[in-house]
Amino acid sequence: MTKSGPGGPKARARARQERDGVKYTRALRGAAAGAQDRFGGHEFEYEQFNDLFRCTECGVYELAARGADGAIAPCPGLAGYGGDTERVYLLLTQNPDFPYRTAFLACEVRATGIGRAPRFSWRDGRLLVESAPSVVDELARRIEQITTTVDGRPVPAVSRIDRLTAEAGRAVIEENHAAYVAERGEPA
Ligand SMILES: [Zn+2]
Repeated sequence: MTKSGPGGPKARARARQERDGVKYTRALRGAAAGAQDRFGGHEFEYEQFNDLFRCTECGVYELAARGADGAIAPCPGLAGYGGDTERVYLLLTQNPDFPYRTAFLACEVRATGIGRAPRFSWRDGRLLVESAPSVVDELARRIEQITTTVDGRPVPAVSRIDRLTAEAGRAVIEENHAAYVAERGEPA
């Protein structure tokens, strides 16, 4: 009896690894798609003062988004997108000379009302930002204007802006998610 070769333990371990890898990738995709389907892409958060859930993106209440049959209308995204359901992305390279942290940049982007940093958008000095085709030029213009003053000179927050299609943007999020899970495990 041989210990290697196509039927040996090493080959079986390798096959198991490959199979688990595929299952793992499918599970990740399924989990992401499942959450998307179940809530129609809305990001409902609890509002204590009225005991209701409201989408932080489009502002609709869950009760209003859900029809009589329980089905939920898809989230149209940020109110600033003006109902444009197409998505495009900007990949921002943070200027290493900029003194504030990434959270600052993500907050500044969110404050424009026409872009946001989705989950798993930050990795290796780069921040992925979602927007809509109708407003992405304006968003890029405003991001270029984010500066702070160091030693009397303006320092831009971002040293480079790359424009990505919806597919390319989602691929970046998937890569970042996979890298996060590999390093720290699935987030709660
Ligand atoms: Zn929504």
